Amino acid sequence: MLEDESHRLAYAYDASGLTYLPEAVALPENTREVSRILALSYEEEFPVIPRGAGTATTGGPLAAEGGLVLALSRMDRILEINAQDLVAVVEPGVVNARLKEALAVRGLFYPPDPASFRFSTLGGNVATCAGGPRGLKYGVTRDYVLAVEAVLPGGEVVPLGTRTLKGVMGYDLTRLLVGSEGTLAVLTKITLKVLPRPPARRTLLAAFSSEESALSGMQAVLERGCLPAAAEFLDQTALSALAYPEREVRGLILFEFDGTEASVAEEVSRARKLLAPVALSLKEAGGREAERLWDLRRGLSPALKRLGSRRTSDDIVLPRSRLGWFVSQARALAQKYRLRLACFGHAGDGNLHVNILFEPEEEPQARALREDLLRLVLELSGTLSGEHGVGLTRRSWLPAEVPPPALHLMREIKRLFDPKGLLNPGKIF
Ligand SMILES: Cc1cc2nc3c(=O)[nH]c(=O)nc-3n(C[C@H](O)[C@H](O)[C@H](O)COP(=O)(O)OP(=O)(O)OC[C@H]3O[C@@H](n4cnc5c(N)ncnc54)[C@H](O)[C@@H]3O)c2cc1C
Repeated sequence: MLEDESHRLAYAYDASGLTYLPEAVALPENTREVSRILALSYEEEFPVIPRGAGTATTGGPLAAEGGLVLALSRMDRILEINAQDLVAVVEPGVVNARLKEALAVRGLFYPPDPASFRFSTLGGNVATCAGGPRGLKYGVTRDYVLAVEAVLPGGEVVPLGTRTLKGVMGYDLTRLLVGSEGTLAVLTKITLKVLPRPPARRTLLAAFSSEESALSGMQAVLERGCLPAAAEFLDQTALSALAYPEREVRGLILFEFDGTEASVAEEVSRARKLLAPVALSLKEAGGREAERLWDLRRGLSPALKRLGSRRTSDDIVLPRSRLGWFVSQARALAQKYRLRLACFGHAGDGNLHVNILFEPEEEPQARALREDLLRLVLELSGTLSGEHGVGLTRRSWLPAEVPPPALHLMREIKRLFDPKGLLNPGKIF
């Protein structure tokens, strides 16, 4: 247990820019310790806030109402990798990249790849249902969680789910916990489905003279039977943050194709033919060069800090056919408020990171622009978060998207799991 201020400060932040100093921090080493802490929380009535690596952009792992931060980083063992059953069993503090490395040497693959995969934990990924570029072909974290060990408020340890690929015995409580943002239970063990590693992988970088042509070029590829693992969009603001050297380029799509050597070669050639009439340039990369391009993409979020000392961070999702319209409308709205706006990310599955970049004195305009943008998303039948979740920063928007009867069911589920409201209070609702 850490109670001195310097240690507590280290757990007072996440990637949202918000800070809340917890009253104490506990670093349990096993399920028994987690259970004892949750039992004590119920006896003594203090809040407990589960935490992985603290990379959330929503304030999710912060002690907004005081209490004890339960940092799961010490529970970081890979308990099993089973190539016959294609499952991996991990503790929640295992960093996503570490599992990927351990699987790669056995010819296996865990697809979910949030841009934070080198430092975020699998516990945090499951609690937020993290997605990433490869969501386009492989889906998100939810599609890989077979079973969890959950410690409920009060301390009861409950195994949920199955080790099998299928299972419909009763309600799917495992899935209920995926994306529940640490508000229903603490995850202490996770059983994940894994896949054989595709033997070939190729990156194709397509540069366009406008954002609209980039998005319609991507759409043409996806409509004609190509299924890249990823199709990431970089808008003009993103290119300027990355100091992209070719000025005439106003939009980029970074494709990744994977499969066998033959299927990858065939898909890349088909995509090249479809893109050639509309793209300014097409560049293929493999191996280290491809990794460099993907690192550039992953580094975009921090690079945007150069364009404004403050920023809002939303990760909206739209039906893919509406992305082009949304980006052009969003650009016009940003001009109206005279603010910089970046729209980039996993366009292949309709998920865009929308960041307004501003200075402190521009805060009222930034708020108004965010409001207009989020309303536009809902008008276009989109959702306000594809992967980052609600946490603190999107709480006030939940009723705008979720109808009252569904919201009532959600509140009742929270009450059933956590009648005293002590597990990660103030989040989501
Ligand atoms: C540069 C950058 C890029 C990012 N890119 C992506 C992206 O591409 N896709 C994406 O989905 N997200 C992305 N994120 C957001 C973030 O990395 C993810 O939400 C990630 O899954 C959080 O993992 P974490 O270990 O940091 O969890 P934390 O931030 O510590 O916690 C996140 C939430 O999970 C809960 N939680 C954590 N561990 C447990 C547990 N064991 N049991 C119960 N609840 C728990 C916490 O209470 C909190 O509500 C990005 C963040 C950054 C900073």
